[in-house]
Amino acid sequence: MTNNDAVTTLKQAVAVSPDNVPLRIHLANTLHGLSRYEEAQKEFSTALALAPDDKQVKAGLASTFYQMGKYMQALVIVEDLVSSADAPPAARLLHARILLGDGKVEQAVREYKRAIEADPSLADESLSDRLGVAASAGGDVVDGRVRAHTEAGGDYDPDIERSKTKFSDVGGMDDVKNQIRMKIIYPITNPDVYKAYGKKTGGGILMYGPPGCGKTHLARATAGEINAGFISVGINEVLDCWIGGSERNLHDIFDSARRNTPIVLFFDEVDALAASRKDLRNSNGKNVINQFLAELDGVDTNNEGVLILAATNAPWHLDSAFRRPGRFDRIIFVPPPDKPARTEILRIMLQGKPTENIDYEYLAKKTENFSGADLSSLVDHTLEKKIEQAMKDGKPKPVTTKDLEAHLKEVKPSTLEWFATAKNYALYSNEGGAYDEIRKYLKL
Ligand code: ADP
Repeated sequence: MTNNDAVTTLKQAVAVSPDNVPLRIHLANTLHGLSRYEEAQKEFSTALALAPDDKQVKAGLASTFYQMGKYMQALVIVEDLVSSADAPPAARLLHARILLGDGKVEQAVREYKRAIEADPSLADESLSDRLGVAASAGGDVVDGRVRAHTEAGGDYDPDIERSKTKFSDVGGMDDVKNQIRMKIIYPITNPDVYKAYGKKTGGGILMYGPPGCGKTHLARATAGEINAGFISVGINEVLDCWIGGSERNLHDIFDSARRNTPIVLFFDEVDALAASRKDLRNSNGKNVINQFLAELDGVDTNNEGVLILAATNAPWHLDSAFRRPGRFDRIIFVPPPDKPARTEILRIMLQGKPTENIDYEYLAKKTENFSGADLSSLVDHTLEKKIEQAMKDGKPKPVTTKDLEAHLKEVKPSTLEWFATAKNYALYSNEGGAYDEIRKYLKL
């Protein structure tokens, strides 16, 4: 019997007993094995509706999503699976792959080791190579890059940027700009007014939303707006696998900020802190988050002039401790730019470039669901092509609406995938109304 015959037979059998879960799993696995992922997804999804708690079904569906390039969807399921101690080892292996793809090497190493400890047959040479671990479960091998970073470490000395970016370089985001003005800028420029009203200053603003929608850009512009220094820290860079290492790195960063006020201290990927609390097997994750909160609270120190902004694309991993007053008491949803914002962003991006009668309104209409980063890549593509053309023709020609429109099909809006994930959280784990903003945006 050929593979296709096998599928046909299985499909017929499933048609006869549609509620037979093991049979449907068998069909789904066969389809998966034949790289017929769309059909596999359909079968796994139906099986999941019949057996919502079946871990093998969830693991199969996650693997299918992963193979289809739907990493966010895969991640949601895998995270649910690995949160229990008896997660299928294959789910841990998949988690390791996703973490590695996301640059979270240290966590990927941990997850990979747990997977092959539970099922040595899962050892994968090429993945072990990329992680820098031995392909077997034994030994105490640590990822090469993590070790190198730690050994080179000592004092963590962050770069201090002098940002020239201003609020006027950021299109849209009016609500966030306003909140930053009220909470971060005015207390510095008009301290007396705040004192007169007995308003305490301090605390940070945390922005969340799909990637590429201007969170980092706006943080940088906040520094430029008030001529403050700017330190940008990716939390994953700070996390260190040696006990105490991450805490020291965090302390060094805050210390450096305190010595260089006024300064905007921007933390990207803050969700990684909370994830570390759950993930770290040697349980130093809790210390890391406590250290971060203590630094944020300015325990034993003075954070005056240190303005704290943070961002995450994965708010669902945040620790509730972040929301307490005096910490990130403003948590703001940063949606993709709406039509007026897209018009403004395109104008900003083409400012000072040779253009001719660009119909910004029209282009904004055509770029629904585009992030700022997507718009930036649209403009970049177009400019590159214009330069190429100018080299050929020997003379530059201005960019037109048509030029930009011609490149629209090369750039796919990147925010939809994020919303597919966010929707699940907004529907199924909206405790305390944490995702009300997302529900409102999606009109759920
Ligand atoms: P995030 O931090 O939300 O993932 P970024 O701020 O890094 O996104 O955005 C990526 C790039 O996209 C920025 O460097 C900038 O060039 C462009 N961009 C995004 N949003 C805007 C915006 N609102 N105005 C102007 N440019 C933007």
